[in-house]
Amino acid sequence: MKTLFYIVCCFLGLGSLQAQPAIDGYPRCGATFAEAEPLEEIKQVVPTRSIFRIPVVVHVVYREETGNISFEQIQSQIDVLNQDFRALNDLSVVPGPFEDRIADLQMEFCLAVRAPDGSITSGVTRRETAIDNIGLKTELYYSEMGGRNAWDPDAYLNIWIADMGENQTGRSSFPGQGLREEDGVVIDPRYFGTIGLAEDQAPYNLGRTATHEIGHYFNLLHPWGPDPVSCQRDDGVTDTPETGQTFLMECPDSILSSCGSEDMHANFMYYTNDACMGQFTPGQRNRVWATLFGARKGLLASKGCIMPGIEPAESGITFTLHPNPSDGLFYIKPNAYPGSLLKIEVFDTAGRKIWEQSSSYEESIQIELPEKGMRGLFFVRLSANGFSSTEKLVVE
Ligand SMILES: [Zn+2]
Repeated sequence: MKTLFYIVCCFLGLGSLQAQPAIDGYPRCGATFAEAEPLEEIKQVVPTRSIFRIPVVVHVVYREETGNISFEQIQSQIDVLNQDFRALNDLSVVPGPFEDRIADLQMEFCLAVRAPDGSITSGVTRRETAIDNIGLKTELYYSEMGGRNAWDPDAYLNIWIADMGENQTGRSSFPGQGLREEDGVVIDPRYFGTIGLAEDQAPYNLGRTATHEIGHYFNLLHPWGPDPVSCQRDDGVTDTPETGQTFLMECPDSILSSCGSEDMHANFMYYTNDACMGQFTPGQRNRVWATLFGARKGLLASKGCIMPGIEPAESGITFTLHPNPSDGLFYIKPNAYPGSLLKIEVFDTAGRKIWEQSSSYEESIQIELPEKGMRGLFFVRLSANGFSSTEKLVVE
């Protein structure tokens, strides 16, 4: 693991490198990250119909009442995320040559409805603080110091809304790096969502600061890698072109080139204005999924998006069989969080496995037992994400 740490900071209106070591100029991002391993894009066998639900808790830590943003403003940001990570946003900003590289990340974000102690929650915590610009300070992460403690960072994406002064819009930690207590995303209240305080903050008024920072949270780098000028470094993603510019406070109306290739300026991981951003690529999706099934897999097992008292995911997975009795041809309907690959096994009453199949998540999976003439009672076991569940099947 490389331990070379960079702090990418978001300096409004400043494109130049800061004198401070390991900080570069950037208006939307102060992601603190190691130059991630050039992690291989993992081509997960992910069912095309799966949606991964990410529980979010928003901690509003404010000094001035104006920073105590409304629930509606917070929800407007969740709505943006649920467009951008599903490729349901305005895709017309993506220039023609890059239209073949628009990826649906199949991720949806919910404001948590279940708190770590199992109680019901709005998914928002609020705290008044006496500390100026607390969004720039470590105190933000600690209740006893005037900030707000993270909820279990394995189970929730923690987003702190806090004043970051005049030079930054947001920052993020990278997976597996830094302190657990400080794991998550920080956004200034003026750049979170699309209404309320954010409404007149163009060009950062469309919620893309959070989209970009959450990209970092799932291990995406800027397309130029750790250094925007050399053309020597990269983001570890093959389908984002090499690039030597950041598009800071820009909204190009034509495709520009650098490092010998056309620049994908509408990519969410550039510094482009909110209105001109519109795509993640399949390579970025694979990298995000590698994180989602790796360092951040706790989010997939989290009950944060499930109302207290409802336990459909208690065993991780349940399913129904029909018809039952059957003639050997039957259907499985998984009734659970559609995680990754499903494994289906059939056992006879002596416990012998007579059949096995792996399948992508589908609403209904057809199974046809191979041997004609099999009769009697069987047990069908469905496994996914480390959970399994068994049902009886009668074959007549
Ligand atoms: Zn960034």
